[in-house]
Amino acid sequence: MHLKPVIAANWKLNHGPTDAKAFLQRFLAQVPKLNDRTVIFFPSAITLTTVTEGLRDRPEIWVGVQNVHAEAQGAFTGENSVLMARDAGARVVLVGHSERRHVFGESDETTTKKMALIAQARLTAMLCVGETLAEREAGHTADVVERQLAAGLKELDDQQIGAIMLAYEPVWAIGTGRTATPEDAAEIHGVLRRALASRVGDKVATGIPILYGGSVNRGNASQLLAASDVDGLLVGGASLDADGWAGIVRA
Ligand code: PGA
Repeated sequence: MHLKPVIAANWKLNHGPTDAKAFLQRFLAQVPKLNDRTVIFFPSAITLTTVTEGLRDRPEIWVGVQNVHAEAQGAFTGENSVLMARDAGARVVLVGHSERRHVFGESDETTTKKMALIAQARLTAMLCVGETLAEREAGHTADVVERQLAAGLKELDDQQIGAIMLAYEPVWAIGTGRTATPEDAAEIHGVLRRALASRVGDKVATGIPILYGGSVNRGNASQLLAASDVDGLLVGGASLDADGWAGIVRA
């Protein structure tokens, strides 16, 4: 089966509401209605409502959040919940991004909880997995991504697993200008696809989009997307400029 490509922009800590409004105006003027691919924006939580409003006439474009807290509500000053994200128009939630894991110390146990909460809220989780350079050099890439995947799926039933998206983002490729080759990406995407299949069977596993992320840009996007088992792209730095991002989305 050939999946509809998913092209996602992770804005990280960039673009407040004012910037986002100007970005969308410029972007939408260049990008006609898209039926053959799914485009997703992950703005900051503060900018989420501006982006959902800016895309009101373009319901084919999805909006998501970069993170939610592992509990649905309570005394957690400074956090955002999955229910609030849903209320504000998010359809998808990033979980376990490498910056959450390596900068903020998010554990596998935390991703397990978040994945369960997101499934209960009937939003789409995009689970990110990826190895550090040291792990790659030690030959542990497959073990690391399989462990992170297993933790993310731990509390989900087969139907819930069928509704997720995955992103393979080698930590050494994120924001470094160093990209995995299409062959590297295909190899690890294959590992992930087989791990999914052994948990939920081939049919469900082939329907789960697996995105590649890590220094994707306009020059390498098409080649990466053409690699086997690569069903989409998760783009950080190169999604910040409206013209550049429009170019990647149309590629
Ligand atoms: P990058 O970030 O494209 O800037 O490497 C990707 C990501 O972190 O999702």
